[in-house]
Amino acid sequence: MYNEDEDEQSEKNSGPGFVGIKFCQECNNMLYPKEDKERKILNYSCRNCSYQERAQNSCIYVNMIVHDVNELSQIIGDVVTDPTLPKTTDHPCPKCGHNEAVFFQSQSNKADHMRLYYVCCGMNCQHKWSE
Ligand SMILES: [Zn+2]
Ligand SMILES: [Zn+2]
Repeated sequence: MYNEDEDEQSEKNSGPGFVGIKFCQECNNMLYPKEDKERKILNYSCRNCSYQERAQNSCIYVNMIVHDVNELSQIIGDVVTDPTLPKTTDHPCPKCGHNEAVFFQSQSNKADHMRLYYVCCGMNCQHKWSE
């Protein structure tokens, strides 16, 4: 865990909005984003030593599916094979009419983050849309 000294250091070294790669202040290895599920915050932690610091920008998540709500094109068609995603039969594909689609919520922290995205499970379709 981090102490107050390390908190002070991390504020000096990372300006607002910094989202690049971070390095451990103890051993200079790359820091990896790590979710603190109990406190619902994002930390960066070193895999080499026990160094950990709090992320300034909590919108960076590993495995982020959608970077921007306006970028439907960034959704990878492969999500239809992801067994962890829920499927719906109530939203037929607007392109091919197939009645099975996977859906997930936008990961963006923008105002309309409640938006849902759908990807058609039809053979060779994988059409993406949002509602
Ligand atoms: Zn380290
Ligand atoms: Zn389709």
